[in-house]
Amino acid sequence: MLMSASSEFIALVREQMALLAQGLGASLSVLYLTQELAEAQVKEAKLVPVVIYPETAALKQADTSQESLKNISSLVLRNNVTTIFLPTTDNKLSARSYLSATSNDENSTDSSGFNQEFVLSDNQLVLPLIHENMMLGLLVTTRSAGLMWNEQERSEIKRVVQTLAIACILDQKRAWLHSQLHSSQMIQEKQQDLLDSLLHQFRNPLTALRTFGKLLMKRLQPGDKNREVATSIVRESERLQELLQKFDEVIDLRAEEFAPLLSSNKQALAEAPTSKSVKRALLLPGSDEVETDCNVTDILLPLLDSANAIASERGLQLISDIPSQLPSMRANSKALREVLSNIIDNALKYTPYGGKVLVSVGKRKANMQGIAISDTGPGIPQQDLNHIGERHYRGVQAQTDIPGTGLGIAIAEQLIEQMQGEIEVFSPAIDSVIKSEHMPGTTFIVWLPVAS
Ligand code: ATP
Ligand code: MG
Repeated sequence: MLMSASSEFIALVREQMALLAQGLGASLSVLYLTQELAEAQVKEAKLVPVVIYPETAALKQADTSQESLKNISSLVLRNNVTTIFLPTTDNKLSARSYLSATSNDENSTDSSGFNQEFVLSDNQLVLPLIHENMMLGLLVTTRSAGLMWNEQERSEIKRVVQTLAIACILDQKRAWLHSQLHSSQMIQEKQQDLLDSLLHQFRNPLTALRTFGKLLMKRLQPGDKNREVATSIVRESERLQELLQKFDEVIDLRAEEFAPLLSSNKQALAEAPTSKSVKRALLLPGSDEVETDCNVTDILLPLLDSANAIASERGLQLISDIPSQLPSMRANSKALREVLSNIIDNALKYTPYGGKVLVSVGKRKANMQGIAISDTGPGIPQQDLNHIGERHYRGVQAQTDIPGTGLGIAIAEQLIEQMQGEIEVFSPAIDSVIKSEHMPGTTFIVWLPVAS
């Protein structure tokens, strides 16, 4: 079904029809639009009159032949014959058929009977509106009996019809985009409602988990090896709570607050006349804090606690090599924690049972210090290496049962770039300490400036 014509389109059609009336003496013009877009192969197109010009005068004075022009009901295309159905005085339909093959119209461009003009009588012309082999409608125009349209006038009318066809298709595209926008807004609203509810439900178990962790910490004596597990539960639930807070900030943003920031350009973001809280909400967790001199070991140890628990569950060996005397790094500790957590998570996730993961610190280049995470997993094929860091890119792993969204490295790269660092990826792995004969493995090195 063609979408309803806009008032702007109707106004444009009227202007064109006024031109036909004033310039060529047309006494009545009617524009029909097809109810559906008819392709060459489609047999029948129902027509709906959309604009009649002039509206009132013609209705009063119309002779029967003119009156019938306002009631064309459908158009049938069969082989090379186009038939237009016109009502007769006794309200039955009379069919007028035109054989395209016999048309002497030089402009005919196809054999569907589309690109024709049809002369109903000496003074009546019917011209189809066509765009890219799609039948959009018909323009019917007439003038007083005995006044035939000459070649020049017919070609002028054709140009008017071409203009109308282009305007019609633009109008249809606008209507289509409008309806798409409307449906995506509806979907977005539904998603937003669902997300609000889910986040609300998420809060209670999270608070309970944190409380249980704290309770456990109190009950376990200092020195008990399980105290570490309880500490990790509390730490991770606090991290989740922080992320949840971020969710709330983003969800609370109103569309108009987002608008000036959609350019995703750092400078535009800095200059946008928006509140600080809005700008904060749009940044990744951790990236809104300033860089300080960080002790890598302080950041890594809690991460290794969690990684150890996961490794032992998955039958992996986690090895760490962290020298005691390390220079401080210039970084945002929260952001660096997210970066390392994503990379360690990958090593633990992609390395099969029985494999090894090594976290080592101490690599140096220029004034940078590197933290390397290597594994004895399947490695990353060359064709995937070129795409690592692209949002949602999972490469060969997309074909496996291992779950993922393809965002971890993209987030890590974004955060590390803000800290003037970089991430290098090697596959096969470059750390000989854990080399496997069967699997190439992977090494990620996170480079950050050494504090001065
Ligand atoms: P998630 O967003 O849940 O982290 P993901 O792990 O698929 O999903 P990324 O962490 O961005 O996404 O990693 C991108 C892709 O890089 C992975 O899908 C995988 O193909 C490849 N990859 C990353 N790390 C490793 C690794 N240690 N071993 C093998 N492939 C890896
Ligand atoms: Mg990942």
